[in-house]
Amino acid sequence: MDLFYVSTRNGQKQVKASEAILKGLSEDGGLFVPTRIPKLEVSLEELGKMTYQEVAYEVMKLFFTDFTEEELKHCIYSAYDSKFDQEEIAPLTYADGAYYIELFHGSTIAFKDMALSILPHLMITSARKNHVENDIVILTATSGDTGKAALAGFAGVEGTKIVVFYPKDGVSAIQEKQMVTQKGDNTCVIAIRGNFDEAQTGVKKMFNDRALAEELNQAGYQFSSANSINIGRLIPQVVYYVNTYAKLLNAGKIQAGEKINVTVPTGNFGNILAAYFAKHMGVPIAKLLCASNENKVLFDFFKTGVYDRNREFKLTSSPSMDILISSNLERLIYLVAGCDAEKNKALMEELQTVGKYEITEEMKTRLDDFYGNFATEEETAKSIHDLYEKTGYVIDTHTAVATTVYEKYKQETGDKTTTVIASTASPFKFTRAVMRAIDRDDASVSDLDLVDALSDAANVKIPNAIEEIRHAEVRHNKVCDVDKMQQSVKEFLGI
Ligand SMILES: *Cc1c(COP(=O)(O)O)cnc(C)c1O
Repeated sequence: MDLFYVSTRNGQKQVKASEAILKGLSEDGGLFVPTRIPKLEVSLEELGKMTYQEVAYEVMKLFFTDFTEEELKHCIYSAYDSKFDQEEIAPLTYADGAYYIELFHGSTIAFKDMALSILPHLMITSARKNHVENDIVILTATSGDTGKAALAGFAGVEGTKIVVFYPKDGVSAIQEKQMVTQKGDNTCVIAIRGNFDEAQTGVKKMFNDRALAEELNQAGYQFSSANSINIGRLIPQVVYYVNTYAKLLNAGKIQAGEKINVTVPTGNFGNILAAYFAKHMGVPIAKLLCASNENKVLFDFFKTGVYDRNREFKLTSSPSMDILISSNLERLIYLVAGCDAEKNKALMEELQTVGKYEITEEMKTRLDDFYGNFATEEETAKSIHDLYEKTGYVIDTHTAVATTVYEKYKQETGDKTTTVIASTASPFKFTRAVMRAIDRDDASVSDLDLVDALSDAANVKIPNAIEEIRHAEVRHNKVCDVDKMQQSVKEFLGI
C-alpha cells in the first residue's frame, strides 16, 4: 500500500517519499511525517534470523513505497557494507544490567553514520525518480557528528555539493579535525562564531528563503537537507530498534511479546523518535527514556508540558546534545495533537516568536510512552568511571548521559524491564573527557595522541576513523559570522 507524507504545518498536501527526501523540509517550514505509521509485515521471530540489511529492507519498504525493490536494495547494500567495521552493523554489548546497541561502527564512529551512509543513495535515487536536473546542495548545521557523517556520505557523490556549518567552539577537537580534513571538491566546511542553535536557525532560514531558492535554481542548484529533519534520516534509524528487539528475541534473551525499555541520549530528538516509530510499528517497547545533558529542555518539557528555550545554553562534554531547539520534537507534537497541523503550526510560531509554548492536557496524556530525565556533567563522568571500574567497558560521554538517566529511572521506579541503551558514539571520539572520567588523563598529550592510552585502557583497537585523521592535512579553515552564512554558501557555489 502506498504511503504518503504531509507537512506538520499543512496536513493537506501529500507528497511521495522520494519528494519528501529531496525537499528535506517542507516549503511551509514544517517537517514531513508519514500519514500513518505502517505495521511490520513479517514477525519479529523471522526478523531475528535476518541480516541487518534484510531487516533494513523489511522496514524501509513500508515507508519508502515509491522506491522499487531493486532501488531500495541497492541503497541499503551500498550503505551497510565494509564501511562498517562489524558485520552485524549495530552489535549489542551487555554491561552492568543493560544492553548497549553500539551504533558507532560506521566510517565516522558516531550513530549518525547509521542514517547518513544511506541518505546520499536515497537522495540520488529520489532525484532520478523525480527527473531533477539541478545539482543538489546539501546544507547542514552540525553539533559535531552530523557534519562529518554527512561529509563522508556525500563526498565525491556526482550531482551533489555539501556545505557544513559547525559552531567554532562547540565541538570536540577530534570532531573538528575530522571535518576540516575532509577531502572532495564538492565539500565545504565552515566554522561559525555562534552556537549550534544559531547555525541550525541560519540553515533553516536559507531553506525558507524563496528568493535565494530562485537564485540557486537559475544557477542549476537546489537545496536539500542532511539534518535529522530529513525523513530519509529518520526512517533508517527505525531499523536498528527493530533489529535489536529481533536479535534479543532470537538469542533467547527475551520472550516473544516481552516488552523492553529503550534509553536514548537525546539532542535533536531524531534518534528517540525513531524508537517511537519502531514501537508504533509493533515492536514491544514499554518506555522510551529520553536522556538529556545539562541543556535539559526536554526533561522540563516532559515534566511540565512547557517547552521553553529561553535559558542559558551550556557547553558540555556531550556536545552533540548541546541543543535547545530539538527540531524533531515537532513531529511528535504534530502526532500528539492528533495530526492537527494548525495546532502544531501555532505552537511552532510561539516557539519562534517568544521561545516557548505549552501543550494541552490532552496532548500531555499522549506522551505516556516517554520518561525524561537528565545528567549533570559530574554524573556523566561518574557513570563512565563506574561502568569501567565494574566491567572494563568504556562508553562515550553521550552514552553515559543515557546510562545515568537509566540508573535514575531504575531508582525512581524499581522497574526491572530489560533495557537497551543507544550507544551513540565511540569513546575514541571524545578521548579527553573519557580519559578524565576514568582517571587516565594526561594533560601533556594531545587529544589525538591520547587515543593510544585509551586503546590500552579499554582493550579496544583504535578505530580506522581515528587513524585516518591523525596525520591528515587541514583542507578547510573558513570561519564566518552567523549573519554571513548565506554569503559563504553563495561564494562556494560561485553565484
Ligand atoms: C546526534 C547525537 C546525539 C543526539 O541524537 P538526536 O537524534 O539529535 O537526538 C546523541 N549522541 C551523539 C553521539 C550524537 O552524535
